[in-house]
Formats: sequence, C-alpha cells, structure tokens
Amino acid sequence: MLLATRCPICRRPDGSPCPECVELLEPAPKVPRPLGLSQLHAALVYDGAARLLVAGLKYRNARSAVSWVAEAMVSRLPEPHGCDVVTWAPTSDRRRHQRGFDQSELLARAVARRLHLPIATMLRRRPGPSQTGRSAADRRDGVGFCARRSVEGLVVLVVDDVITTGATLGAAGQALVGAGAASVVGLVAGATPPPGR
Ligand SMILES: [Zn+2]
Repeated sequence: MLLATRCPICRRPDGSPCPECVELLEPAPKVPRPLGLSQLHAALVYDGAARLLVAGLKYRNARSAVSWVAEAMVSRLPEPHGCDVVTWAPTSDRRRHQRGFDQSELLARAVARRLHLPIATMLRRRPGPSQTGRSAADRRDGVGFCARRSVEGLVVLVVDDVITTGATLGAAGQALVGAGAASVVGLVAGATPPPGR
C-alpha cells in the first residue's frame, strides 16, 4: 500500500504542503542582516502555517516538504548568487539528540543539491555562557561557533531553519569570516515576524 503524503500543515493527504496551505504561507519581508553576513535571505514568515511546515520536517516521510521548503529558499537567492559551498549552523547536541537529526543540515543538503554546490561541515558549537535563568531567546543568542576548517577565499552559503534575532547566524558568519571566508551569505526557511504583529 502506498502511503499518501500528508500535508504537514492541515494533515490532509493532498501533497506536502497541499495547494490550499501553500496559499497560507507568506513570503518573508526583508530581514535585517546581522554582522558577519554579507547578505541574508529568508523564504517565509515563521508564523502559523510556516511553523507547522518547518516543525513537520522532522517526520520521516517529510521528504517532499523538505524539497518544497528548499525550493522556496533557493528562489529567494539573487541570480547569480556567487556562492561556492554550502554549510549549516549546527543545532545543539542536546536538540540533535532529542530529534535524532539536525533540520538545518537536512535543509542545507536539499539546498546544495538544487544549486549543484558542494556541502561541507564547517562549524562546531562552542559552549555559551551559563544558561541558567535565561529566556529561550537569550539561550539561543548565547551561541558561538568555531570553524572546523579553513574556508580561505570562499563565498559560503550558511543555512539555518529559523532566524529570530539573527544572533546565531551572525555568530556562524563571524566564525567563517574568521576562518578566511571571502563572504558569508545567510539563507533561512523562516523568519519570525517582528514583535507586535
Ligand atoms: Zn494542507
């Protein structure tokens, strides 16, 4: 028996995401670029339907949702994009362990395939300052990265699932520039809407 691909947003077996839910997904507006990145592009406003879509990437049968999101991301890049290699901002070991995989890596692999670019593991998380008593957003912002290899002279495309304050991608960009990158372009699936929306 063939299992129908369920829409991660409405759960109907009409595609992943289904055409009706695609209508609910809003393209992200221009996102402020954190220090460390030469450009930043975001596919969707990370709200309602997009949250369900990105959260749904963790299911085993979400391959078509991953491709759809990667396609939406790639469509936001300028032509020509000038990137040489793709990497991702790795999630914490604890989150990776809970989920069994890193969804930013999953998206980065799908993006690299579409762009016909190589993908490489380039960043490692550095333990941040003490996390006790800090809000979720602050904890995320406490992140630092170190580069695992030299990226001398390369334009690196760094992928992440969601951007909130930009601190994570900014830290990733700074680590890559520190390792010799000519420039670093950020690409994310979702950008959280500005406060008050
Ligand atoms: Zn749907």
